[in-house]
Amino acid sequence: MAKRLQARRLDGIDHSPWVEFVKLASEEADVVNFGEGFPDFSPPEFAVEAFQHAVSGDFMLNQYTKAFGYPPLTKILASFFGKFLGQEIDPLKNVLVTVGAYGALFTAFQALVDEGDEVIIVEPFFYCYEPMTLMAGGRPVFVSLKLSPIQKGEPDSSSNWQLDPTELASKFTSRTKAFILNTPNNPLGKVFSREELELVASLCQQHDVVCITDEVYQWLVFDGFQHISIASLPGMWERTLTIGSAGKTFSVTGWKVGWVLGPDSLMKHLRTVHQNSIDQCATQCQAAVAQSFEREQLHFGQPSSYFVQFPQYIQRCRDHMIQSLQSVGLRPVIPQGSYFLITDISDFKNKMPDLPGAADEPYDRRFVKWMIKNKGLMAIPVSTFVSVPHQKFFDHYIRFCFVKDESTLRAMDQKLQKWKAELMP
Ligand code: PMP
Ligand code: GLN
Repeated sequence: MAKRLQARRLDGIDHSPWVEFVKLASEEADVVNFGEGFPDFSPPEFAVEAFQHAVSGDFMLNQYTKAFGYPPLTKILASFFGKFLGQEIDPLKNVLVTVGAYGALFTAFQALVDEGDEVIIVEPFFYCYEPMTLMAGGRPVFVSLKLSPIQKGEPDSSSNWQLDPTELASKFTSRTKAFILNTPNNPLGKVFSREELELVASLCQQHDVVCITDEVYQWLVFDGFQHISIASLPGMWERTLTIGSAGKTFSVTGWKVGWVLGPDSLMKHLRTVHQNSIDQCATQCQAAVAQSFEREQLHFGQPSSYFVQFPQYIQRCRDHMIQSLQSVGLRPVIPQGSYFLITDISDFKNKMPDLPGAADEPYDRRFVKWMIKNKGLMAIPVSTFVSVPHQKFFDHYIRFCFVKDESTLRAMDQKLQKWKAELMP
């Protein structure tokens, strides 16, 4: 066809790091995938049973359900999260079930962001916030987390990465429509403190801005740190959309069930987008998530709770990976939450600055491609998670996912030890 085919809203957003790096890794034999964020072990037994029950039980679960969510799921989400957010949540007005947290984010951007609206994004950020802002016609405004000084020899921690309050305040203008928060943050693993959230909350209130908060890793917090939902702070429920994911909550990323919680004044616009796009999400997956939450509600806070056991397991995975990376001279930034860590590769950058790749390609991207091909390990370059003008400040970090089976972590050890032997023959 001679006509321009693609809609202009797609200009400049055709790249996806997951598609690119998963493809690269699949082209090599024997690459271990620490790039994409998913567990490579079985979900908890109660979730598998809930799914089996949904598939083999009531035949009506094979049919459409209510457009905005399967009623037992919206009901349990309302009662479960109502306690954390300090709100009486109405399952019909304050809950929307979507295709994963991705679907929740997309619905929120489409519903609220207009042509020319500014959207503040904290970087490094989960990859899709920028293209979703652009697709809605908005203008992303970036503010970077910066590493505060640490004692020499001390390991870096994600809590040392902070927003500068003056710089943050300067990003809010009369055109600012939304602030995107992600805590625990992907890729850094930072868990925002109450003081940091209070600062964001007061700026959102002062400038009449909506807060879209992506809390998909809310149960995955380590070292006694505490996740706080910004919607629970005074005056924030009215202007906040809180997003979650069953994929991350119950280790079932393939089910693609997500949700948004918020006040009816905002949610009614998300429902308009949903009813004119997705319309319905898979009923059986929703039923399985509902049953899993019902089980968790009974066990909540007890040693038998998955929300207690799972973070303990992955904290051990995190510590295993930190030691492995340190043993080859890499310098991981210790995360307080999520299932990712970033690691500093400056020493490699100094020793082998001329890796193959285009001259203007950020170093971390060239490093990851080299590592996939030569070392059989896949990670994601951190420059992927920042705006183009800021890539040069982040191109000496790569992100690993540590929510992996012990055998996968041991496979990493073997590859790293071989690498170490090559470095020090
Ligand atoms: N937000 C963040 C921060 C993520 O890491 C992910 C990746 N899973 C998502 C949203 C999307 O979640 P889902 O798989 O439920 O669509
Ligand atoms: N949350 C996943 C990650 O950060 C996303 C992977 C995906 O969308 N395929 O790795």
